[in-house]
Amino acid sequence: SLPTQDLPAMRVLAVANQKGGVGKTTTAINLGTALAAVGERVLLVDADPQGNASTGLGVPRQNRKVSLYDVMMGETPLTEAAVRTALPGLDLVPADGDLAGVELELGQAARRSYRLRDAFEVLRASGKYSYVLIDCPPSLNLLTVNAMTAADAVFVPLQCEFFALEGLTQLMRTVEMVRGSLNPRLEIQGVVLTMYDRRNSLSEQVAKDVRSHFGDKVYETVIPRNVRVSEAPSFGKPVLIYDLKCAGSQAYLKLAREVVGRERERRRVAA
Ligand code: ADP
Ligand code: MG
Repeated sequence: SLPTQDLPAMRVLAVANQKGGVGKTTTAINLGTALAAVGERVLLVDADPQGNASTGLGVPRQNRKVSLYDVMMGETPLTEAAVRTALPGLDLVPADGDLAGVELELGQAARRSYRLRDAFEVLRASGKYSYVLIDCPPSLNLLTVNAMTAADAVFVPLQCEFFALEGLTQLMRTVEMVRGSLNPRLEIQGVVLTMYDRRNSLSEQVAKDVRSHFGDKVYETVIPRNVRVSEAPSFGKPVLIYDLKCAGSQAYLKLAREVVGRERERRRVAA
């Protein structure tokens, strides 16, 4: 195998959790923005037909002439589907409603689970991006399987609520399934606790349980529940641009530094 330093250093992370409303899209947008802010070259791939990440980054539907749908149908190379955002260093492959039809349209097509992975090949060789974040839909469908097959690792946002751990069991089963067939090298990049409320003892208890279960896979940084974070998408802005000083922005910046630091360490150990 090639020495690590010769491999293109693009890290593809599938932001996944089959539960809806746990902070996947919020994390994809704001971790993506924060990574760009600390000097990484980031591509966000919106793989949810709802297109919330695209809207939240200020790319309105009428500007989504080319979307991930065209990439998955093999009609457009990924490099041509990427558009710039207001933030230098952060590009986006938008999603639109068509994406919901991909599962049916691909039917039993050859390599239907490898569509995204195949599309990434040119990008990996180009060295254009250092991080790719794929915002997955809230289900374990063909889009999520494509994301996990294309990814180096899964990045898991976890809301601090009562059934958080139960929900993870299903996700881990899917990761095992993908590892067993489509992508044997798939790792868990890390788990980030979202919407943490320090006045609520349940948040603290869940955090403790998750840490005892997943150990150091859980980031030290927790993302607090913060109203600025939930307001920002309606202005088509990442929270870091909407209000850099708020607790949510500062937490995502801290998370970005932790992610980059851990990734450097992982590479050092792997080498
Ligand atoms: P998912 O993509 O997993 O469905 P979202 O990222 O869309 O979840 O988040 C679900 C809802 O929670 C959204 O309305 C979002 O604005 C809100 N939200 C996410 N993170 C936070 C946070 N840290 N503080 C406050 N609200 C949040
Ligand atoms: Mg979402």
